[in-house]
Amino acid sequence: MREAQRCVECKDPPPCEEACPLHNRIRDWLVLAADGKFLQAAAISRLTSNMPEICGRICPQDRLCESECIIGVKNKPVAIGAVERFINEYAFEKLGRIPGPKRAWRTGKRVAVVGAGPAGLACAEELVKRGYGVTVFEAMPHAGGLLVYGIPGFKLEKWVVERRVEYLKRLGVEFRCSTRLGPELTLDDLFNQGYEAVFIGIGAQKPKNPKIPGMDLHGVHIALPFLVRNNLGPDRLPAGQWSRDDLDGKLVTVFGGGDTAMDCLRTSVRLGAARVVCVYRRDEENMPGSRQEVKRTKEEGVEFFLYTAPVKFLGDEAGWLSKVECIRMELGEPDASGRRSPIPVDGSNFEIETDFAILAFGFDGNPVHDAGGKLKVRKDGCYETDENKMTSWPGVFAGGDAVRGPDLLVTALKDGRDAAGAIDRYLSPRSEAVTCQEGSLRSYA
Ligand SMILES: Cc1cc2nc3c(=O)[nH]c(=O)nc-3n(C[C@H](O)[C@H](O)[C@H](O)COP(=O)(O)OP(=O)(O)OC[C@H]3O[C@@H](n4cnc5c(N)ncnc54)[C@H](O)[C@@H]3O)c2cc1C
Repeated sequence: MREAQRCVECKDPPPCEEACPLHNRIRDWLVLAADGKFLQAAAISRLTSNMPEICGRICPQDRLCESECIIGVKNKPVAIGAVERFINEYAFEKLGRIPGPKRAWRTGKRVAVVGAGPAGLACAEELVKRGYGVTVFEAMPHAGGLLVYGIPGFKLEKWVVERRVEYLKRLGVEFRCSTRLGPELTLDDLFNQGYEAVFIGIGAQKPKNPKIPGMDLHGVHIALPFLVRNNLGPDRLPAGQWSRDDLDGKLVTVFGGGDTAMDCLRTSVRLGAARVVCVYRRDEENMPGSRQEVKRTKEEGVEFFLYTAPVKFLGDEAGWLSKVECIRMELGEPDASGRRSPIPVDGSNFEIETDFAILAFGFDGNPVHDAGGKLKVRKDGCYETDENKMTSWPGVFAGGDAVRGPDLLVTALKDGRDAAGAIDRYLSPRSEAVTCQEGSLRSYA
């Protein structure tokens, strides 16, 4: 309550709300929370977000809502994420579960959602609320996307994601896990099975790997599989895919400066590595991830080599990694992303002793097999969509990382919600779609 009371209730539009991709009604929930009205505050937070308790935990608030908080000009900004998490956990505890919305008139139409990450789950929720029958097809054994198969449990506990999935099942969303859209199950098959529209939310999980000599040495690893095998138990993985890396006493170097790199660094610390080093080619200011995550990583004892890039991996006779040759960088003119591009400094090469290297250079899209070539895909493997989130195949929509490339939970949720609205307009052009919003508010009245 004391933290929420720090909000000075900025006039419309509150800058924190403008900075949130979902335009969450932050000021309203802070005012209610400041008054101890936690259930009402939580209900308001659920109106615009499908996973407020998860956004409260992992959104980079320091780059979004909290970065615009007016209090932050002279003091610490209001801890918006922490309040969001608290009011929603309070509501879970008091009510026992997330209150369901009022059922909408059933349209009798079915929609397939491919990919059970946040984009797919938000789209599925918004569609069932509008009266559609929704089936989610997911390649992995469990729903959640990168929230389960990527982000480590020390940042986001898996039961929090499972609780969301249980809620969606209660709403009537059907899940077909361990089912991959591809040559065996195509988009045509889905339409032939009676689905009238499809939403593709398959993320962007293909690792970007620049060719660096020595990458084939034992001891050079790719970030996402490393995170998955070391943060999940066998119960959540396809049969036979579970193992753990023994990092006890090892010298670990992680290449990259985004959230994935920070998660690899912090996982390595937890696995008992003797020394954990982050190598990043720009400065801290230009790191793509959350500042908060960099701060936590430093607090855990990780060393940072900034303005540094790998040149080659060096190994012993048996083919095991022993060192990485690196080169110092300086920043030149801004590139297409607006960030200053790093330029190698001649003759500045040096070596870092390493016996376990993890490459976290980012991701490209990995589009589904589409024999007819009917889906337009960009060079980075992500889908092209129009302003209604529809792809070049009428009735097939897409969003989240599958369209944007690697981005954030909150933008994936936004895309899923927007696509659900667009699918509704596409399938029921004259329908007055009933949304849940009034329903969930009424259940608190
Ligand atoms: C290590 C890591 C840490 C991150 N940390 C943060 C953070 O702290 N805060 C933040 O906001 N964001 C973070 N992100 C980014 C965030 O997780 C993603 O932006 C978000 O999950 C994207 O959601 P999505 O639904 O588009 O895709 P995803 O979450 O990638 O989900 C896609 C789903 O589609 C499934 N799929 C793929 N292909 C097929 C197919 N052919 N058939 C069926 N299913 C398929 C996948 O198995 C997956 O379940 C992080 C990302 C990573 C990798």
